[in-house]
Parts: sequence; structure tokens; C-alpha cells
Amino acid sequence: MIEAVKGARDILPEEIGRWQFVEAGARATFELYGFHEIRTPIFESTELFLRGIGEGSDIVAKEMYTFADRKGRSLTLRPENTAPVARAYIEHGMRRRSEVERLYYIGPMFRYERPQKGRMRQFHQTGVEVFGSDHPAVDAETLEMLLAFLARLGLKELDLVLNSVGCPRCRSDYRAVLLRHLGPHEPVLCDDCHRRLQANPLRCFDCKVPADRETMAAAPAILDHLCAACREHFGRVRSYLDDFGISYRVDGRLMRGLDYYRRTAFEVLAPGLGAQNALLGGGRYDGLVEDLGGPPVPGFGFAVGLERLVMSLPGSAVLPDGAPDVVMVASGEAAIGRALSLARGLRRSGRRVVLDPLPGKSLKSQMRRANDLKARYALILGEREVAQGLLTLKRLADGIQVTIGEGDLETTLAGAARA
Ligand code: AMP
Repeated sequence: MIEAVKGARDILPEEIGRWQFVEAGARATFELYGFHEIRTPIFESTELFLRGIGEGSDIVAKEMYTFADRKGRSLTLRPENTAPVARAYIEHGMRRRSEVERLYYIGPMFRYERPQKGRMRQFHQTGVEVFGSDHPAVDAETLEMLLAFLARLGLKELDLVLNSVGCPRCRSDYRAVLLRHLGPHEPVLCDDCHRRLQANPLRCFDCKVPADRETMAAAPAILDHLCAACREHFGRVRSYLDDFGISYRVDGRLMRGLDYYRRTAFEVLAPGLGAQNALLGGGRYDGLVEDLGGPPVPGFGFAVGLERLVMSLPGSAVLPDGAPDVVMVASGEAAIGRALSLARGLRRSGRRVVLDPLPGKSLKSQMRRANDLKARYALILGEREVAQGLLTLKRLADGIQVTIGEGDLETTLAGAARA
């Protein structure tokens, strides 16, 4: 038997309601704030991620699905979508259309990671990107939108963690301070941290090895080394959030793994999720568009992991059930012919109708199927109904049934819906 590959999974019809609920919530919320959807390709030139994410990052160093196509071009399945959206923004000259551009996306991402609960090799994210303004109001409003989205899904007890990772100027000073702190610990740091030390020592904050985490917990915080402009930006973001009444925790050691972040960086943690408790991450990336060959346009965004969101939904969420309004229960060929035409009429008036043409199946087992599908009604065309030109409509919730003429079907259904 051929199975789905390790780290990839099917999202089955019985779970899809949770996904659709989350996706509909994302669209509805983001569109309230002026965001438009963009769909970029699943694969891109590898170079986009080398330049966009940074060659020393964990993603580029060990997590990308990279392959050569038949002409030998190096392609990569997207491990994240900020760099692709920035590429599209540049390629289509979106800056000329509007000075501030707000985009959102929903779709699969791919990372070669060790699969575990809440961590997949094909996973899904919804995210937003705002291009064109470095005003702290963008940071605060986008965070407020994010929290409105999570609240709409009924998610509570979340932990918003905020930091400023400065700009290249303050970061180069801080890098020297950090290297001085790490110097004596270098011999005991893990192999990954040795690589990080060379590429970008700030990434050591992302290390999951307990001993290294302790070393990093004692490291000086970047917040004490921000330049005046970065300090002011962070102060203004915080004061807007305070005005919104949004609570958050400042953690000077939150760095985020990607090279492109500037100033604001944040994560939302969901304590109920266990080891993989980061629901989402984001921040400001004012240098990215320029690094990718575009104009100097600032940006801000976040990406939420849909697997983790779906896992965190409260039991009280009202999910779309996809249940049919009517299941046709037809016995014999003549009945199936009539059922086909009745079903067509019902669908034209907007009702969901299921018709399984199984003439040999007993009415009883077809009724069981209608119950399994959680249908509201069974429309029964048995021998008696066919002979008399009538039909029986049974409400499955309470078993009440009426036998009526075809002409009365719509009014009976409409009346029952009102009752
Ligand atoms: P990142 O792009 O690494 O900042 O990740 C943003 C969010 O995407 C995380 O907080 C997770 O919710 C989700 N995520 C990242 N990697 C994975 C993965 N391998 N499997 C499932 N979700 C992931």
C-alpha cells in the first residue's frame, strides 16, 4: 500500500470543518482591515530563499526541499511565504499602485524537520504582509488585527511576547557584546550554535538544547543596546498597544530565526499546545524588499501555523458541518429517475441534496445512511410513493413524516424550516 510520505498528511472530510472555520475567520478579519489575498507559487527559485531568509538560517541550512528541475535549475518548495510575497510585490510593481499595500495568504509550506505533534513537513500557514510604512501604528494595528482574528476563533489565554531586535546599526554593536558573552561558553555550545556563531550569533537564541538555552538566558538583552530611533519605535508600538488595552510580555531574548527581521519581533504562545507551543510569529522586516532587489520599502507581517490553530480551537466553536439538507431514499429504478429530477429542483433552490443510486439497497439501510450523514430530511420514494405519485418527507431529528404531492415539496420544506 502506498501511504502519504512522512511528515505530510491528509486533512479528511471529518476535520475539514475546523480548517474552513479558521480560513473563513482569517479572510473575514483581514479583509476588514483592507488586506487582499495573494496566491504565489508553491515553488520558487532557490536563490529567493537564500537571499530572503539568509544562508546561515536553520531553514536554509537544513530544512529546505530543494531540487533541480529537468533543465538543472535549482527550485525550492516554499518554506515560508514572506520572501515569495515580497518577490511578487517587487515583480508586479505594486508600489506604483498604492503606497501602502496589504496582502494576506493561506497555503501550504514545506520544511524538512523532524515530525512530531504540531510539527509537519508539509504544514499550512495564513499570514499577512504590509508594505510601505515604517510607522509604529502599522505594527500596533496589525497586532490588534491578529488578536481580533484569534478572539474570533474563540482562542483565549494566549501569551503575546514582544521584543525589538533593533536595526543593522544597533545589531552590529550588540553582536559584539553577545560574542563577548558567548566566548567562554564556546567549547560547550552545540554544533548548530557553532554554525550560528559564524553566520549570526543572534540565532543562538533559537537553540533548543537545554544547556545552550541556559547560556542564552544569561546573555545581555538587545533591548539594552537599541539605538535611539529603534528605542523610540518600540516605545510607540507599546504605547499604542497599551491604548488598545492589549496585554503582552516583553522578552528581550525573543529573536526569531530569520535574518530579515528589524525592530518589532513577536510570537504568540498557546500554553495548551505542549512542546510546539508557538502559534505564530512575525515582525518588521524593513530591509527585505531592498535585499531582494526592490525599492527601499519597509514591511511588517506575521505567519500563523494552521495545524496549531486548528488543534487549539475550543470545543464551543460553531463549525460548518457540511451536512446535507435532504438525502434521497429511493427504491427501484423508477424511483431513482424521479429522485434525480426532484434533487435537481431542490438544489436549484439552494438546498444540499445527496442521492446515492443504490437500487438494490433496502429503504432501511438507506435511512441509516441519511442518519450517518446527519441530514435534516430524508425524502423517501418507496414502492407505495411511486405507485401513487407521492413522496414522503421525514424529519430525522424527531422522526415526524408527511406524505405529500410533488408540488407541495418546496412549501413543506420552507414551512418546516420556519417551524
Ligand atoms: P515561522 O515561519 O518559523 O515563524 O513559523 C510561524 C508559525 O508556523 C509557527 O509558530 C508554527 O505555528 C507554524 N510552523 C512553523 N513550522 C512548522 C511545522 N514544521 N509544522 C507545523 N507548523 C509549523
